[in-house]
Parts: sequence; structure tokens; C-alpha cells
Amino acid sequence: MQYTEIMVRYGELSTKGKNRRSFIMQLAQNVRGALVDFPAIKIHADRDRMHLILNGEDSTQIIPKLTKVFGIQTFSPSIRVEKDTVALKATTEEIMETIYTGKETFKVTAKRSDHFFELDSHGIQQFLGKVVVDRFPNIKVQMKHPDINLRVEIRRDGAYLSYETIKGAGGLPVGSSGKGMLMLSGGIDSPVAGYLSMKRGVEIEAVHFASPPYTSDQALQKAKDLTEKLTPYGGSIEFIEVPFTEIQEEIKQHTPQGYWMTLTRRMMLRITDAIRELRNGLVIINGESLGQVASQTLHSMVAINEVTSTPIIRPVATMDKTEIIELAEKIDTFELAIQPFEDCCTIFAPPQPKTRPKMVKVLELEKRLDIDGMMARCLEGLKIEVISATQSEIQVEEFADLL
Ligand code: ATP
Ligand code: MG
Repeated sequence: MQYTEIMVRYGELSTKGKNRRSFIMQLAQNVRGALVDFPAIKIHADRDRMHLILNGEDSTQIIPKLTKVFGIQTFSPSIRVEKDTVALKATTEEIMETIYTGKETFKVTAKRSDHFFELDSHGIQQFLGKVVVDRFPNIKVQMKHPDINLRVEIRRDGAYLSYETIKGAGGLPVGSSGKGMLMLSGGIDSPVAGYLSMKRGVEIEAVHFASPPYTSDQALQKAKDLTEKLTPYGGSIEFIEVPFTEIQEEIKQHTPQGYWMTLTRRMMLRITDAIRELRNGLVIINGESLGQVASQTLHSMVAINEVTSTPIIRPVATMDKTEIIELAEKIDTFELAIQPFEDCCTIFAPPQPKTRPKMVKVLELEKRLDIDGMMARCLEGLKIEVISATQSEIQVEEFADLL
């Protein structure tokens, strides 16, 4: 018994009225991207569903990849058979022989879009219900929440049987909401912030500040590895390395330590915003979480945010650390994130950062710095690299996530 197609149900797309078409096209493109290794698969998308015709490709390889594509609510691997009662009966028996262990309750749900078919949906349910009961006389039929729901759809080109509904990733197709710049450190929070913004359709580019030789090659590699962990959700990601050494040294040399953190963060934000503009991004995303550290008090946030009016999305702002860690584990970034390579903020971290920086003071201190010159030199030194999706290990647990 081999699946011949996977039927995909859209998530929130259906509520999006006139944007629907572009959302579906984006989803189709993302599905294609997630399944590049399976070129035989044909994708047919219509208003309500997407059908992946497997053409012999192995569904057990494909299912785990599909569970990561945002914009999919649920999907059902299906078997296509001829549209006649003999074939329906034979396949129904075959399916039930494979999955029924003697304990499960069941029902048949039929849908007929081809109105020329000899039985209507009620008739199909009666017919196949009887096939199953004849074959397994002790089986119990249950209408509400049966263990096995055998779905049958009679369409123009054939009959489709399925019995699994696998939960998709939900959300919106990556790219359907535009592009954002993710400020990606080597920590736990920013990759989760990236993942969550991708979930709402934002295509991301990763901006990482590195201060060699104070920060190591390993720290840089870690940020790239974290970026790679996000690729199964939205395809390849541009990784932008920002040379930050000069700026950090200048700040350290010319300003009092209580303000290093605020001034550093303001520079990071200014630079990220400049990169955003160069790269046609719409928003900035970061991993700030309220109250976590000195830079993340509301007072600090106000002082740092003052350098731009670009919207900043902070997906983990209101989450507890334990909630963020749970997500980091789910997307497999946690283990990497806790590797102890110092990043630029840790190394220049002042002993006593101001948790209530004064705006007047900030502006006065910035007069000591050649902000424009430093920014220009920094932007000249950007290094951009495409991090592509690897054929990363298939996580079989997610596969078992049946509804
Ligand atoms: P994370 O776990 O994401 O590192 P954090 O709890 O360590 O966050 P901070 O170090 O204060 O918090 O950083 C807050 C946010 O600033 C990060 O989530 C990230 O978005 C951004 N950020 C910090 N350091 C860097 C960096 N080196 N490159 C790019 N962005 C950074
Ligand atoms: Mg950090």
C-alpha cells in the first residue's frame, strides 16, 4: 500500500480574501523549495487545497519536511484508486487490514465532488462501512472522534482514500508578509524570534555583529549554524556578517562604562536599519525579552529604539525564558545556543550597565563619536553569504504528531 498523493489543507489563507492567490502561489513555491530533492513530485494548487502528486516518491521522506512548511494547517497522505466500487472496496479492506489492530473504533467520511459517480456521499459511507464491518465483525463504529476516520473523496480524476490527518506548522507562508532583518546573536532568544516571525510569513535575512579578534571564528560559525537551523522553515537565508570591532573599541575608549551597553545597542540598531534599507527589508526582528537583562528594561528599550522609527518585531518580548527554551528545543537550536562562545556583547559587557539610561546623556556622549564615519566603514565591510538548507536529519517524532 503506497501513498500516491498528499492532500494539503491551507491554514489561515482561506480568510485572506483577495490576497489568497498570491498566498497560495507563495506556499506552492515554498513547498517546492522544501521538496527540491523530490523532483518527480507535481504540485497542483487550487483555491481550497493543494495536491502533491508523488509519482512514486517516498512519502516517509516527504512528510517530515512538509510539517515544517508554514501556511499548512493539516495534510493527509492519500491513495488514489479507480472510481469504482470494486476498487474502493479492495483498497478499503487493504487499508483496514494494515491499520486496524482489533481495538480501534472507526467511521467512514465521504465527499463527492464528481456528481456523476454512482453513489452519493451518504451511499459511499454506507457501502464502505458495510465493507469494513463484513471484514471485521467486531469493529465498533463511532461517529464522534473515532480512532480511525477513513476519508474518501470522489473527484473527477479518481477516488482518494486517506486515514491520517497530520498537523502542519500553521502560520502563513514565509515570504507572504515581506522581508525582515533578524538580529541574530549566538544566543537562545534570537533564533526563536526568527522562527516565530517566519511563522507569520516574514522572510528573514540574518544580521550578525562580530568583533574579531575579541570574538572567535567559532562564535561566528555558531551564528551561521543557528541560521542553518532555520532553513527548513523557509528555505535558504542570507547571512550578513557585520564588522563591529572598531565601533566597540571607540565606544569603550571614549565613553563611561555605564553607557557602553546603550550606545552599543544604538549602533547595532542604526546599522541593522541601514542594512534593512539597502536590502529592501520592511522591519527589524530581535530576540529581546522584557526584563531579562539590563538592555531589556523598558527604559533601555526606549533609549535604544530612539534611533529608528522602523517597526521592530520582538516575538519573544513577553515570553518567559522557559517558554523560549521550549521553542528553542523544538527547533533544535538550544544545544547549539548554549555552547560557550562569547559574542560581541558579552565581551564588551560593562560591569554595571545603566538600566535607566538618560536620553540627554546618551545624545551628549554620542557627540564624542564619529557615528557617520564609523557606520560608513562598517557598512563597507559587510560580508554576505547564503546559508542553504541542508538535508538535515529527519525528525521522526514529528511525523507521529497525528490529530
Ligand atoms: P539572545 O539569546 O538572542 O542572544 P540575549 O538574551 O542574550 O538574546 P541580548 O544579548 O541582550 O539578549 O540581546 C538582545 C537581542 O539583541 C538579541 O536577541 C539579538 O536580537 C540582538 N543581538 C545581540 N547581540 C547580537 C549580535 N552579536 N548580532 C546580532 N544581534 C545581536
Ligand atoms: Mg545574547
